[in-house]
Amino acid sequence: MPELPEVEHVKRGLSPKILGEIITGVTFSDKVTAGKAAGKQTIIKGIDLKTFEGKIIGSTIKALDRRSKYLIFTLENELHEHYIISHLGMSGAYFVVDRLEDIGVPNYINHWHVAIHLQSGKQLIYSDIRRFGELRYIERLESAAQIMAIAPEPFDDEAPAYYLDQLTAPKWQEKTIKEAIMNHSVVSGCGNIYACEALHLSRINPNHKVKRLSKAKRTELFEAIVHVLNEGIKYGGSSISSYRNVEGKEGFMQTRFNIYGRKTCGTCGGPVTAKVIATRNTHYCTHCQK
Ligand SMILES: [Zn+2]
Repeated sequence: MPELPEVEHVKRGLSPKILGEIITGVTFSDKVTAGKAAGKQTIIKGIDLKTFEGKIIGSTIKALDRRSKYLIFTLENELHEHYIISHLGMSGAYFVVDRLEDIGVPNYINHWHVAIHLQSGKQLIYSDIRRFGELRYIERLESAAQIMAIAPEPFDDEAPAYYLDQLTAPKWQEKTIKEAIMNHSVVSGCGNIYACEALHLSRINPNHKVKRLSKAKRTELFEAIVHVLNEGIKYGGSSISSYRNVEGKEGFMQTRFNIYGRKTCGTCGGPVTAKVIATRNTHYCTHCQK
């Protein structure tokens, strides 16, 4: 599942290709058209396809931002600014191409779902093999409840204090620390993979309840989260679950993991323990993580 570093790379890759472009049309895959006709929320959420198309045609793509694991496309027409918020789900990817075949990765050609046509003749394509991703049109950012509930970006100055404060809430005391840091009201953009790596780096056993960790240990963990997310960005994201960047390339971060997806601990060489914690497969070292 794409986490913060992967979505950051999508943003950086897309921005120079689409900013300033005017949207001239939208086409949808048969899967999306059939799903919506059957009353489902296939990819395009909360709006019918004709309305979605009508709202965005003629608008200029003014900005592209990332907030946690969401991409926010800011559109502008003569009336107002408006937005598409997109989440890549398990396997979503964006490409900017002249023709669909130019994507170059067969799975993403076959599983294209939304093609936003641009004035330059290029197309902004959203592909998604498992179809858990989404594009959601909204008039005002304040109406995007899922965005408003997110903790500050982990790199922001106010993020550490916000995180420490959230962890003092009664609802987290009996929960595992891993579950807490994967919740985006506590930490923004830290999913399963980076949570495992950060817990390993700060030598914390992911089974520990929040209440058991000292403030110093909680702070150390937050610093580790920021470190692994920065590393993830630096190495192009990780491609463990089919992530591809805008160029159709994989990231390299998975080669730098010390614990996630490994048989032996990258720190001590001992065996890695795998266990489901908070519904996600968690990897840790009982020797290094006390
Ligand atoms: Zn170890």
